[in-house]
Amino acid sequence: MNFKKLILNPELYANIAYKRIRNRVRVLCYRGDIVVCEICNWRGKKFFKGCCPKCNSLPRTRLIPFSLAYFKLLNDTPKLLHVAPNVNEFNYIKDKVTPLDSYDRLNIRPVKHINIVQDLTNTSLKEFSYDLAIAWHVLEHIPKDQQAIAEVYRLLKKGGHFLVSVPIYPLENMTTFEDVNLPYEDYERIHGHYDHCRSCGLDYYKRFEAIGFKVSQLLVKDLETEFVDRFGLRTDHVVWCFTK
Ligand SMILES: [Zn+2]
Repeated sequence: MNFKKLILNPELYANIAYKRIRNRVRVLCYRGDIVVCEICNWRGKKFFKGCCPKCNSLPRTRLIPFSLAYFKLLNDTPKLLHVAPNVNEFNYIKDKVTPLDSYDRLNIRPVKHINIVQDLTNTSLKEFSYDLAIAWHVLEHIPKDQQAIAEVYRLLKKGGHFLVSVPIYPLENMTTFEDVNLPYEDYERIHGHYDHCRSCGLDYYKRFEAIGFKVSQLLVKDLETEFVDRFGLRTDHVVWCFTK
């Protein structure tokens, strides 16, 4: 523990300590072998309000391991570009992809587990560099998403894959809605989140097709209930695996 930071910010450390103790109590209370969090390998009776009691992973994060297996994307060791991963996503993937230098983590701002700080709409990375790219609930935050998609297309090797999920808003929305003139303060009211530039619909994959990707789709609602329950997934989620 950094004692200088502890003295400067005691509330932050009190909060971290509280969450650690809280999670240990929840793990004890939820002992069992009915559900599995593939992010941290916790097994238990049930998830706590959708979250893993041990690592706090959300259903959408637990959908990553499921999707990688579903589309058979980690069978060979890929050179991987992960766009703006959260800590849980990073911790999970880094153990799957070895050596670690074949796993690049890109973000527009510096974050501890990020190794490339660049804008996805315009990187200086070399074309044909990656076998696999992942953008998980990220593209809805990027105003020029089609530029970002085109950049990933450029960076992927031929036959490479781009694994993507975005929130569908409102639920079961079929048609993506976007108004580039909408002021930022209206994002929450229109798109359901203060930082979402658009309301993605189930037709969002067409933006990738327009750039040249072939598409495969996974709708969680079409999966067997036993998978949904076991891995704590959400039936309103969608995943696309695009191939260059
Ligand atoms: Zn977990």
